[in-house]
Amino acid sequence: MVKKREHITVTITGYTSEGQGVARHPEGMAVFVTDAIAGEVAEVEIDHVGKTAAHGHIVKLLEVSPHRVNRACPIGKRCGGCNFWHMDYEEELRLKGQRVRDAISRIGGVDPGEVTVLPGTMEGYRNKAQFPVGASDFGQPVAGFYMARSHEILPVQRCRIQDPRADAVKTAVMEWMELENISAYDEGSQRGLVRHIYVRTASTGTLVCIVANGGVPEVADTLLQLVQAAVPDLVGLVWNINRRPGNSVLGDRFETLWGQGYLEETLCGLKFRLSPRSFFQVNRQQAQRLYDTALELAQLDADTTALDLYCGTGTITLCMARKAGKVYGVEIIDAAIADAWENAKRNGIDNVEFFCGDAGQAAERFAREGVAPQVIMVDPPRKGLSPAVVDAMAQMAPERIVYVSCDPATLARDIGLLREKGYVLHTTKAVDMFPRCAHIETIVLLEREVL
Ligand code: SAH
Repeated sequence: MVKKREHITVTITGYTSEGQGVARHPEGMAVFVTDAIAGEVAEVEIDHVGKTAAHGHIVKLLEVSPHRVNRACPIGKRCGGCNFWHMDYEEELRLKGQRVRDAISRIGGVDPGEVTVLPGTMEGYRNKAQFPVGASDFGQPVAGFYMARSHEILPVQRCRIQDPRADAVKTAVMEWMELENISAYDEGSQRGLVRHIYVRTASTGTLVCIVANGGVPEVADTLLQLVQAAVPDLVGLVWNINRRPGNSVLGDRFETLWGQGYLEETLCGLKFRLSPRSFFQVNRQQAQRLYDTALELAQLDADTTALDLYCGTGTITLCMARKAGKVYGVEIIDAAIADAWENAKRNGIDNVEFFCGDAGQAAERFAREGVAPQVIMVDPPRKGLSPAVVDAMAQMAPERIVYVSCDPATLARDIGLLREKGYVLHTTKAVDMFPRCAHIETIVLLEREVL
């Protein structure tokens, strides 16, 4: 019997998909250990015993990995955001590559060989921040992050993966609230004004949006002064009203208090307009690498017709359109499709068409209508491709399928399904879009088997 609070001595043999160390209890049960590194021997205290695995933390390290570093984050992981501040980047990249390889070979049934991961900048890479605002026990306004698995706000001075401009804005807004006696929103009573500080940063400047449970107070001038002093590259200050209880951050009404209500950013040489609502990759440098890699694998030329399923605001679609003859993009959110058309127009690209709808239904329709793309690009959410997408793609029989994935397990499952349709795994690459966090983005090229 594995017991809570029991101490055991274990060797860490690998990692879970959330980045915890994996060890085995002497009685056989798997134990997931926080902040552990493969190869380490440790005395571990069991915190929780589940049905198939137990969870524990290190009490004493008996053999320390050479990859262990003390670069602790000032928040000490209490926000539940990052996973890997206790190890060097080399080990993080190795474990991410291994995770992709293991998933594809175990679930997909093919060994992709060693998977190298394109490294990113470890700090300051996030270009979007949403800080919840609340009141401390003494009634002072606080802003930061929700603690892991809770709605309690952890006040944060500096988050190391965030663009420093976002933290500077947060400090300025806190100063304003104290100075002008502005109340923080309280989820329980649904009273109080300021709910979230939403910041987007780009190479062209900073856009700040204050999300509030009501209209603009008279003292907005001092807000602008303080925010401008904190981020001299401010391009816009927006007020958003969200009176609905619940978890969605943004409400429907936006009022631009100063400057412009959007930000401009370039990605792979294309210009994009970002309003607070529009989706944009949070790590621009790595998104460019991801798209460059996807494009290289797609091998497009002026005679190619390509399909981009799950296209979002059309970023990959437009990159492909510069090389291909014609590209069709499909996305389920209509606001993203509106942004995609707008982005095509502002970049002078006219060989694209966007469709709003479910990828499976759209792919079935394309197949029925005899659209025959040589290349299909897919970039689905974590749950991967629906069976309808797999079937319709097989019917269209493209020469190449390029699959961009944020979850190696569902990617691996789909590689197995596409194998049955005659598609062979050719290349596997990974890009580290979220250094210090357990997520990993994978890109694979599947080629139609020539019989
Ligand atoms: N390729 C884009 C976005 C990828 S994110 C980029 O790199 O920016 C995945 C996208 O799939 C999201 O925009 C989401 O809205 C969309 N999506 C989710 N389910 C879908 C479905 N069933 N059909 C079409 N699109 C879907």
